[in-house]
Amino acid sequence: MSRIENVKRVAIVGGGASGLVALKALLEQGAFDELVLFERREDVGGVWFFDPKVASEEARRYAQDASTQYPVVLEDGGAPKYPSPAYEGMIGNIAHELISISGRPFDKPLSTGPVQEGEREESDLFPSLDSTIAYLRAFADAYGLHNHIRLNTEVVSTRFVDGKWKVVTKNLLNGEETSSTYDAVVYAAGLWDRRHLPAIAGIDTLPKERLLHARFYRSPSIFAGKRILVLGNGNSANDIAAHAAPVALEPVYRSIRHPSYYSYVPDARIHDVKPVRQFSLDPASGKVIAELGDETVIRDIDLVVAATGYRYDVPSLRVPSGDDSAQDEPVTPPDGHRMLGLYRHLLHARFPTLAFIGYSIAWSPFANSEAQASVVARAWAGRIDVPAVKEMIKDEEDSVKEVGDHNLFHVLALYKKREYGYGNELRDWALQGGTEGTVGVHWDERRIWLLQNVVRLKTLQLQRERGLIT
Ligand SMILES: Cc1cc2nc3c(=O)[nH]c(=O)nc-3n(C[C@H](O)[C@H](O)[C@H](O)COP(=O)(O)OP(=O)(O)OC[C@H]3O[C@@H](n4cnc5c(N)ncnc54)[C@H](O)[C@@H]3O)c2cc1C
Repeated sequence: MSRIENVKRVAIVGGGASGLVALKALLEQGAFDELVLFERREDVGGVWFFDPKVASEEARRYAQDASTQYPVVLEDGGAPKYPSPAYEGMIGNIAHELISISGRPFDKPLSTGPVQEGEREESDLFPSLDSTIAYLRAFADAYGLHNHIRLNTEVVSTRFVDGKWKVVTKNLLNGEETSSTYDAVVYAAGLWDRRHLPAIAGIDTLPKERLLHARFYRSPSIFAGKRILVLGNGNSANDIAAHAAPVALEPVYRSIRHPSYYSYVPDARIHDVKPVRQFSLDPASGKVIAELGDETVIRDIDLVVAATGYRYDVPSLRVPSGDDSAQDEPVTPPDGHRMLGLYRHLLHARFPTLAFIGYSIAWSPFANSEAQASVVARAWAGRIDVPAVKEMIKDEEDSVKEVGDHNLFHVLALYKKREYGYGNELRDWALQGGTEGTVGVHWDERRIWLLQNVVRLKTLQLQRERGLIT
């Protein structure tokens, strides 16, 4: 075990839920001379800050050029904008109680305005996009976080130089670049920039108007009168198929590999089919032909929606390589299937003044990030020990053996100790440094029950919305 000493200047990359809880936890330690959070967007909230103007501009540009990369610039000019991957009418899948940050109850709908025609009403259990962003903004205000937040500022490069982190930022309003040096850096930049498309033969040949990644899905109007095939049955896939069903041609196809682990209400208008083996285009109609694993062929698809997830990517960051090459290397492998070299999904094992918050996949992401932040804040304040580098490297290698070296490596549900064991372990670790400041939520019986039943509760909620139960 060892202590990390002399951390005085800390930078945080990203102002979503993870960056905000990190900033609060670090502030509470009162141990740092400078704390600054860089957020490339014009507001905090990450995924939950959904700007419809930016989203529709992105969708419009995407329709014109599928290779469009972020950011987008609006027609009336201004700073480049990074759109959120959220979509209209998104209702959270995580109950208020589970999504809450400790000491900040979120147990009832926060949105105040009347529900517009066609909008889904927020339930007692699950928060809407509006109320979640309201919750996160209120969190930032309540703890005076804005004094430390630089909005419209993108971190373009982070490198380890002479024992410190050199961070280059770009002011997106005027294009100016600034370089500063920090003793420690938190990456809380989210997971939603690198879209994943499955390796299905022919998928690369589909024209842009025939293939949409869920990242660009904004509203069901694009499905009207069309034949839709959705790839996947995760949260977004299930939501998108349900949005398409009332307006698209029947049936909406959902190509799946296994039963869904997420909330889903069977719908006669949605047909589950086998995985797609091959895509091609019908030369006469220009529509997509999907050959399925069971030899079935669907010939008249207008739009394939790939709700097939994301890959890890932290393009602004390089760390010195672990060999003698004196080269810098990325913290993700070329295919982005996981983060490399992280101790407990959190500290860089070889460089423990580099932390990653929000990169493990949790059902209770805000609380998970808070527990991670409480450890990082105390470790960098010199209040708790961290394992020796060798031990952390070995621990990561053992985790790879336990779970496997694949794209689900950071899914906490796959570990023996599960998300609640992980959360409580981090909390106990943080508590070794005293109760000053957040220590994250305690996973008690009730909270574990809620976690284990959240899919069932959401399913009941969806059934209620459809009038299938009262
Ligand atoms: C479509 C969708 C639906 C979801 N639904 C739910 C749900 O129902 N319930 C739930 O609990 N969770 C849900 N999630 C998960 C969600 O990601 C977490 O709730 C939470 O928002 C993660 O917060 P974060 O801060 O880790 O990441 P994000 O919210 O992604 O925030 C990261 C921030 O970092 C900024 N950033 C990135 N790179 C840089 C850079 N180089 N410089 C400066 N800033 C940068 C980004 O602009 C962003 O603001 C959903 C995610 C998606 C994509």
